[in-house]
Amino acid sequence: MFEINKLVRENVKRLTPYSCARDDYKGSSGVFLDANENPFGNLNRYPDPYQQKLKTAICRTRGVNEQSLFLGNGSDEIIDLCFRVFCDPGIAKAMIFPPTYGMYEVSASINDVEVIKVPLNNDFQIDIKEAESHFKDEKLKLIFICSPNNPTGNSMNQKDIEYVIQTFSGIVLLDEAYSDFSDEPSFIEKINKYPNLIVMQTFSKALGLAAVRIGIAISNPAIIQYFNRIKPPYNISTVNQEAALNKWTDRNVIKQQVGEIKKERERLTFELTGLNITDRVFPSDANFLLIKVKNANYIYNYLVNNKIIVRNRSALVDNCLRITVGTRNENDQLLNALKRITL
Ligand SMILES: *Cc1c(COP(=O)(O)O)cnc(C)c1O
Repeated sequence: MFEINKLVRENVKRLTPYSCARDDYKGSSGVFLDANENPFGNLNRYPDPYQQKLKTAICRTRGVNEQSLFLGNGSDEIIDLCFRVFCDPGIAKAMIFPPTYGMYEVSASINDVEVIKVPLNNDFQIDIKEAESHFKDEKLKLIFICSPNNPTGNSMNQKDIEYVIQTFSGIVLLDEAYSDFSDEPSFIEKINKYPNLIVMQTFSKALGLAAVRIGIAISNPAIIQYFNRIKPPYNISTVNQEAALNKWTDRNVIKQQVGEIKKERERLTFELTGLNITDRVFPSDANFLLIKVKNANYIYNYLVNNKIIVRNRSALVDNCLRITVGTRNENDQLLNALKRITL
């Protein structure tokens, strides 16, 4: 049986969370003389520490209850909080499947947590046998799965994801930052079945609010409650909560934009495949393409000189560039520049 308390750091279980003025009195009207705010102005009050309105809206569309939802200052804060809740610095270990999102490892280093790297296989899928060989390691507390994966663009096999969640007795963080661009179902509905699963999504990609810095974690209430205990009290500003709520309420626009991006992704895939600089365009479930070329460094610099910025990922995947799908016009500019290249 899964026991959350066996996984949580002792100091986190023991600590008394910061108690802010808004924890003592939760009403919204009254004479507020409790938080040393300036009484004048319109952004003079501290934000709602638990983002109630925004959470209500998200819960309604995601079909989860509020005790299962946590909002972070970007996904990056949620990744950091996972380390802080579950990983004793200098002792605990985490597992990642490279090439993958860079923040998992950076955040591990910041928290002095050793990373076990199990490289994806030639199909960019999880090497289950190799991964499982580490599951007995009692110091391994946290596994990061990114699906669709950045920078490869593909989704992990659903069966493999589920196998890891079922077989590993620690915490699995499943990063679904790009799931809106994929036809694969989200794992959100599986959080009740798997108490060790954290599903993470973000406002930064499909929702078009990277500037607003909001990440979403959906999980078992026991885990969410620990996040709430250790987060900075006012981790999401009032301005950002309002911007996010407006966007969330306007879901039709998002759907239409995602549809357009997916169409452009297919067109770009086709056009890029036809270029003589291209070795391979990898299939993508995300809003970017990983493309293998003859000389990635040369092409990267050539594009920069033409004021077109892509991501050079050749240090992670041999001779590969990661290209975000832009507007039709931006994609045309990219294609025209690439057609002019002489190697
Ligand atoms: C872009 C991205 C995120 C989003 O991070 P935020 O901090 O929410 O902006 C999360 N995970 C992956 C894999 C990403 O590529």
